Amino acid sequence: MATVRKEWNDAERLVVKIGSSLLADTRTGELKWDWLASLADDVAAVMRQGKQVIIVSSGAIALGRKALGLPRGALKLEDSQAAASVGQVDLAHAYEECFKAHGIVTAQVLLTLGDTEERRRYLNARSTMETLLRLGAVPVVNENDTVATSEIRYGDNDRLAARVASMMSCDCLVLLSDVDGFYTGIPDQDAHAELVPEISDITPEIEAMAGDTGTELSRGGMVTKIEAAKIAIDAGTHMVIASGKVENPLARLANGGMCSWFFARTDPDASRKRWIAGALEPRGAVVIDDGAAAALRAGKSLLPAGVSAVEGHFDRGDAVVIRDGNGREIGRGLSAYSKTDAALIIGHKSRDILERLGYRGRDELIHRDDMALKKSIGNSD
Ligand code: GLU
Repeated sequence: MATVRKEWNDAERLVVKIGSSLLADTRTGELKWDWLASLADDVAAVMRQGKQVIIVSSGAIALGRKALGLPRGALKLEDSQAAASVGQVDLAHAYEECFKAHGIVTAQVLLTLGDTEERRRYLNARSTMETLLRLGAVPVVNENDTVATSEIRYGDNDRLAARVASMMSCDCLVLLSDVDGFYTGIPDQDAHAELVPEISDITPEIEAMAGDTGTELSRGGMVTKIEAAKIAIDAGTHMVIASGKVENPLARLANGGMCSWFFARTDPDASRKRWIAGALEPRGAVVIDDGAAAALRAGKSLLPAGVSAVEGHFDRGDAVVIRDGNGREIGRGLSAYSKTDAALIIGHKSRDILERLGYRGRDELIHRDDMALKKSIGNSD
């Protein structure tokens, strides 16, 4: 008998990705209201345990193609985009209805993969979703298919969900799909295919096993799930593939139902700090005074008042080096202001930002969540 996993119990912030075939009937394209209501029951129960939940939901195209009377089979890009714009209305409405029954407010968030990659938009998407979670709402995310410039592929939402999990520093990503885990082969075609319950390393063998197990509505298959697992693991997020074909799929997972776990070796905060410290090319620098340096060491954010100079050419969301008055690097962070705007507010109180810039930006020049300090501050390198 399977046991409840620590990775599930300990998770404080989850992304749950819902595949199209779970929400829309494969033949008729009808929305599966009972299933969605059972998911809402599960999410409400998980939230009562104090966890925060973000949903990444597919299904817009599947619902929209029925409403527009489009034929089955592969659609042209413009037909998919038209279907998505119609279906997204139904999708958002369905989530609103089912979650309202539990007094939970849902929010529609349409992202493109670029929003999770390009830093300026990334800062905005991240803080909007942080705000929604703080206010107790459940963000329901889908790709902004209507403006997508490349072919929309089923399975794109696996990757999108992993990017959202990474962007939002989630502990756990749950991929609910029409298979109950990762198999050594394609179950329908290979009698010896076995479910792999735990994966700690995505080896070439695992990638080779991924094959492509897809259904007509959701051709995501395992290839995109493995790609999602790589993004998640790198971000310190555990990932689990579980069946969504049953009602109350999260309760089933919580009770130790069949599934496949992909384990991360680090945690989301450590991974984000590593990304800020190492992966981004700094575009400039901020020089801070002793008071601000002490505040940063005590875990505070960097306010404009504590900055004496800005250097280089950086835009909002770019990485900058943080230096003390002696020229020593004490850390790196993502600037909430461009160099031009930062130059106008440094040395001033945050309450003066509106007057100096003409808009009310963030109070912090670099938020502490967007900052990685050097471990041995004082040892210049
Ligand atoms: N964004 C697409 C939709 O909502 C689905 C993409 C996917 O399933 O991966 O219809």
